[in-house]
Amino acid sequence: MVVKQSVEVAIIGGGSTGLMTAYYLAREGVKDIHIFEGRYLGFGSTGRCAGGVRASFASDVHVKLMKESISRWLSLREEISGLEFVQDGYLWLLTTEELVEVHKKLSAYQNSLGVPTRILERDEIRDMVPIELNDILAALYDPMAGKASPLKFLWSVRRKLRELGVAIHEYTPVTNVRVSGGRARSITINESKDVEVGGHVVVAAGVWCKDILERIGVKIPLKKDPHHLLVTEKYVQFIKPLVIHKETGSYIVQHETGSLLIGTEFPVPEEDTTLRYGYLRKAVTIMSRYFPQILSTNLLRVWIGYYEVTPDHHPIVGVIPHLENLVVATGFSGHGYMMAPIIGEELKNIILEGKPKLPETRELRLERFEEGKLLKESAVFG
Ligand SMILES: Cc1cc2nc3c(=O)[nH]c(=O)nc-3n(C[C@H](O)[C@H](O)[C@H](O)COP(=O)(O)OP(=O)(O)OC[C@H]3O[C@@H](n4cnc5c(N)ncnc54)[C@H](O)[C@@H]3O)c2cc1C
Repeated sequence: MVVKQSVEVAIIGGGSTGLMTAYYLAREGVKDIHIFEGRYLGFGSTGRCAGGVRASFASDVHVKLMKESISRWLSLREEISGLEFVQDGYLWLLTTEELVEVHKKLSAYQNSLGVPTRILERDEIRDMVPIELNDILAALYDPMAGKASPLKFLWSVRRKLRELGVAIHEYTPVTNVRVSGGRARSITINESKDVEVGGHVVVAAGVWCKDILERIGVKIPLKKDPHHLLVTEKYVQFIKPLVIHKETGSYIVQHETGSLLIGTEFPVPEEDTTLRYGYLRKAVTIMSRYFPQILSTNLLRVWIGYYEVTPDHHPIVGVIPHLENLVVATGFSGHGYMMAPIIGEELKNIILEGKPKLPETRELRLERFEEGKLLKESAVFG
C-alpha cells in the first residue's frame, strides 16, 4: 500500500496496543488512521505472549484498570468476529504456608475491589484440573480471569480494522519523528519518506518506544526483560484455567487449538535473546510434576519475547510532556496484552477528549518518574 503525503493519526507499532487504539478510534468514526509496523503485526511481544488476562493484581491501579479491560474483552468478542476470550479463570498453586497466608490476604484485598478470588483446598483444586497435587497446599482461584489466543486476536482485529478503513502498513519502520513548536509534525518512514501528521502520533512500539523517543530527546525508564515461551503439540482440552506455580513463576495455558504454552522464570541478560536449553528443562520438569500427561510431550517451538519493564512495574501512558499531540503507551511489565483494550480506549479518549476517562490511567503519566511519584503495590503483606 502506497503511503500518502499526510495522515491524520499515525500509530507506530502493530502490537495489541496499537491495534486496540486504532480500533477504538475507528469505532468512534475517526478517519485516516494509519498503523506503521516495522515488521509484521504481532512481531513484537504480542505475537509471543501467552494470552493470559486477569484483574487479580496487588495494586489498585492494576486491579481497577484490568477490571475495565476484562469488560472490554467480553464486549470485543461480540464486536469482532473470530476474537476469542474464554473466561476460564487463573489458578495459582501455592506450595508453602507463607504463600498461602500471603494469598489469603491478597484475596481479601482483591475481593474488596470487586475481584472475586478465593482460596481453594486441595480437593477443590483436583475437581478443577486433572492434577497430581504433590506438595500443593492450596490455590488462589480467580474466576474473572481468562485467556485470549494472541494469534486469533491478531488475525481477527486485522480483518476488523480493514473493514473499518484503517490503513495497515507492514514492513514500514518509522525511523524518525519530527517535532517543532511543541508538536509532532511528521514521521519519517523507511529512512527516506516524510509523512505529515495532522492529528496525533501514537508511539505504541513496545520496548522500542525507548529508542524512538530518545531520538527526539525524550528519555523513558524502560528495560527489556527477555522471557522464553514454548508451545507443545495438541492435546484434547484438559486444562481450563491458566495455571501458575507461584513459587517458581512457572505457568501453563491451553488455548482452543489444544496446544499448551508453558513458561517459567528464567532470567537472561537484557539484550540476550539466545534460546536456552535450561529453560526447556526447567519449564517441563516443573509442570510435569503436576501434569504428568506432558512428560513425553513433543515441543513444536520455543521463542523469546520481551517484557517492557518500568521501575514500578506499571505502564507509561499519556501525552509526552511539552509535545501536545505525541502520545505514548508502553512499559506494561508483562501485562500489556491483557491491558490493551482499556489502554486503547483510553488513548482514544486522550486523542479525542484531551484526557483519559479513568483516574487510574492519569496515574500512569511519564512525569511520575521525575517527580518521584512511583506507583506502589498497595497490598503490602507481612
Ligand atoms: C513470553 C511472554 C509471555 C507474555 N504473556 C503475557 C500474558 O499472558 N498476558 C499479558 O497481558 N501480557 C503478556 N506478555 C506481555 C505482552 O506480550 C506485552 O506487554 C504486550 O504484547 C505489549 O504490546 P504492545 O503492542 O505494547 O507492544 P508489542 O507487541 O511489542 O508491539 C510493538 C510493535 O512495534 C513495532 N515497532 C518497533 N519499532 C518500530 C518502528 N520504529 N516503526 C514501526 N514499528 C515499530 C514492533 O515490530 C512491534 O510489532 C508476555 C510477554 C512475553 C514475552
